[in-house]
Amino acid sequence: MTIRILCDFDGTVTEHDNIIALMKEFAPPAAFEPLKKGVLDRSLSIQSGVGQMFRLLPSDRKQDYVDFLEQRAVIRPGFKTLLAFAKSNRIDFAIVSGGIDFFVQPILKGLLTDEAIYCNGSDFSEETIRIEWPHACDAACNNQCGCCKTSIARKLKQDGDTIIAIGDSVTDFELAKQADHVYARDYLITLCEQHGIPYTPFETFYDIVEHLQTTEVYA
Ligand SMILES: [Mg+2]
Ligand SMILES: [Zn+2]
Repeated sequence: MTIRILCDFDGTVTEHDNIIALMKEFAPPAAFEPLKKGVLDRSLSIQSGVGQMFRLLPSDRKQDYVDFLEQRAVIRPGFKTLLAFAKSNRIDFAIVSGGIDFFVQPILKGLLTDEAIYCNGSDFSEETIRIEWPHACDAACNNQCGCCKTSIARKLKQDGDTIIAIGDSVTDFELAKQADHVYARDYLITLCEQHGIPYTPFETFYDIVEHLQTTEVYA
């Protein structure tokens, strides 16, 4: 029996969405905006939309992209404290992110090993960035998530495990529905309210540590 925290990255660990920031800075708006709109109104799958967005970025500026996002990313307060709390209580902690390895891993460097990070991959050997999907949907999901959070949960979860989901948005909702406990902020709160999914709101990771300490979630 293990307690597993599956935590979103963009808008959850970092205060803002890194893909949006990257595209706004480096992609031609006329090409990016329709893709963003398509993902939001669900006429494009996340996998297709995100894959096409990164095709807008030349591969030879990789270091510019990494530098831009590393300088800009703000980690939500309390993240280190939550990691330390999880470690000392034998809670398994993993990032499940629709972000891309080339910026997720550097931003989390020194905080988490790459093995604890589930995200999309990238190939810079072609003229523009080609996204790789090592955690694509399994047979139980036909959503074309790109990085499929429920598939990862199904793969990791053993009998008796408790899954705790932490997230902020629509891409966390399917996981939230299946989790044993949900910590939600921003739009994920609205979705949980609309669908009657129990959740605990949070603004910083200190809120989550405090709640974990005072509940039976992990007892
Ligand atoms: Mg998010
Ligand atoms: Zn999926």
